[in-house]
Amino acid sequence: MIGAIDIGGTKIAVGMVDHKGKVLSRMEAPTDPNRYSDGIELIAHMLRKTSQRAGSPIEGIGIGSTGPVDPMNGEFGDVDFLPGWRGKSPVKDLAQVFSVQVALENDGDAAALAEAGWGAGKNRKRLIYVTVGTGIGGGIVLDGQLYRGVDGAHPEIGHHVVDPAGPKCTCGFRGCWESLAAGPAMVTWVENNAPANYQHRAGISAKRICDLAQQGDSVAVQAVEHEAFYLGLGLANLINLFTPDAIVLSGSVMKSAELFLDRIHNLIRAGCRFVPAEKTKLTLASLGDDTNLIGAARVWHYRFGHGR
Ligand SMILES: [Zn+2]
Repeated sequence: MIGAIDIGGTKIAVGMVDHKGKVLSRMEAPTDPNRYSDGIELIAHMLRKTSQRAGSPIEGIGIGSTGPVDPMNGEFGDVDFLPGWRGKSPVKDLAQVFSVQVALENDGDAAALAEAGWGAGKNRKRLIYVTVGTGIGGGIVLDGQLYRGVDGAHPEIGHHVVDPAGPKCTCGFRGCWESLAAGPAMVTWVENNAPANYQHRAGISAKRICDLAQQGDSVAVQAVEHEAFYLGLGLANLINLFTPDAIVLSGSVMKSAELFLDRIHNLIRAGCRFVPAEKTKLTLASLGDDTNLIGAARVWHYRFGHGR
């Protein structure tokens, strides 16, 4: 049984995951962005508690974390929203407390490894995992190996530009994929394009837009078409660049994937003529809401558990 830790900007989830990727117990707590030592103590406490509940000792620990992390030395990088965690190594600290091997990866890479090993990407040689929620992230697994950039860097698929005249993004560009196709972009589209008297305008969310589109609301249907167009552009770019066997789609926006998929497929057919795009399967993630936690456990297997 592997102790899994999913560190996000607002919460930390900890759980025990068996060798088939099943979550045996889990708990979560809010992230303290400033005090790292309190955070590590809290994580250690949750590991002990969930291990006790699952009734089995911890054989190893895997961590998936948001933001830039250095998977090789196990340290946090310049994580904007966790300023007190910069340069700290949960890998070293937890290995000391629990006397087991600990591995850390970016959470997009962790989830990609989980879908490749235990989920919808099983038996796919070239797999791209894409999560669309408040942002767009992901990971690339080629022949069972996580794709790493220079110095182990994690590629940012959400920040390839699809419209240079698009909205400004924190990455420095305008109109990158995330700024046009993540959940908040749908909300912005409705705010900018719905008639002034649109009755659902106040406090509308991406999920609400999808629900309304399903009921035939014409503003929401247009927002969904717009969303599908930008989702499709980005996915078509990934297919032209990588010709993967599969793209596994995850995240809160993809819970409404049936609203987008027809238009996405049409776009891919129209714009990926020089590659065998029909052979790239677009498939939904299969590990559910615990993908990131399961991914954290998979990180340990990927690093230390060969042959399992
Ligand atoms: Zn960007």
